[in-house]
Amino acid sequence: MKLLEHEARKIFAEHGIPVPAGSVIRSPGELATVMDTLGDRIVLKAQVEVGGRGKKGGVLVADRSNAQELASRLFSMEIGGIPVREVLAVEYLDIRHEYYLSISVDRSRKCALILFSDQGGVDIESLARDRPDALRRAAIPVLMDRVPPFMIRDLLSGAPAEIGDVINRLYSVFCRKDALLAEINPLVMTPAGLYAADAKLVIDDNALRRQGIAQNRDLTEREREAEKHGFSYVELKGDIGVIGNGAGLTMATLDLIQYYDGSAANFLDVGGGADQERVMHAVRLVAADPSVRVIVVNLLGGITRCDEVARGIIAAGVSQPVIVRLAGTNEKEGREILRSSGYQMLDSMEEAVRAAVEATR
Ligand code: GDP
Ligand code: MN
Repeated sequence: MKLLEHEARKIFAEHGIPVPAGSVIRSPGELATVMDTLGDRIVLKAQVEVGGRGKKGGVLVADRSNAQELASRLFSMEIGGIPVREVLAVEYLDIRHEYYLSISVDRSRKCALILFSDQGGVDIESLARDRPDALRRAAIPVLMDRVPPFMIRDLLSGAPAEIGDVINRLYSVFCRKDALLAEINPLVMTPAGLYAADAKLVIDDNALRRQGIAQNRDLTEREREAEKHGFSYVELKGDIGVIGNGAGLTMATLDLIQYYDGSAANFLDVGGGADQERVMHAVRLVAADPSVRVIVVNLLGGITRCDEVARGIIAAGVSQPVIVRLAGTNEKEGREILRSSGYQMLDSMEEAVRAAVEATR
């Protein structure tokens, strides 16, 4: 789950990383009291989890004369489709240099990967592409509780030594908070010293409970519903809803959709032994996605009984066409139940997927 900048910077500060003074406001009216503590020049930052917020107009420098007006402008904005409800007002930093610092999980190397650049402030993907030599890396085994000095030296290679301390503090945030990503872009040098001028923290969804986070805000309403039923459910960009049982069969169905030039809106794995009730919830959940125009159900009856599945599909009673491929236990009964209710059951997954793709044309 992605934390907002103001949440992340609070955690950074608790771990001794210097952050500019600031506070969160929920309306332009709250600005007056904040201005008194932050000085004459401030930076107003929309609190939305959208990359490149600055370039999208979500970060504004203000002074006493225009702060109110600029704050009102931010509160009336949508950034990346998300309305701005909170604004972080921080003291203006006199930036002399911008650095990039991040720590992320390197899945292939099974370790933490530290990235550092003395060309920070810019979009990291373009930096990696255009000036790969400006980006230095260090892979550290996750059992280490500190970043060893020789790695810090290699990372900094000439950048101010006090950044080493920030690297270690960010590393302890990364470890203690079960983060997938901890990023400071830019980490800035000012006449008053180093500051994290931005803060980003992504917590591993599997660690939310341990981190005391009750609810994953990044989930859509349907994803939350799926979690409740124990379905594996993922939303995509297309228009075909997909229900399968088992990761393999579900993935194979997605591959076939791609093969026939269709595109999936989502996929849901009902898991093993799904009964009528579960299938009904699954079909309704997938159908509730407004981009779904047709649903393909591809289930293998093992412990799962095809007649139960058929009854579940009918009980769901959704408005979109449901194209079904069932094979295995009680297949005949399932076919009969579906046929008598006007549903079509196809013999192979190729046929079912092709029919679904056709239906979206
Ligand atoms: P992002 O676009 O969401 O990454 O937002 P940032 O918080 O990183 O801000 C974008 C850019 O605004 C930074 O890279 C800085 O160049 C600039 N900026 C942010 N805060 C300050 C500040 O206090 N002083 C100055 N001079 N520039 C700032
Ligand atoms: Mn930034």
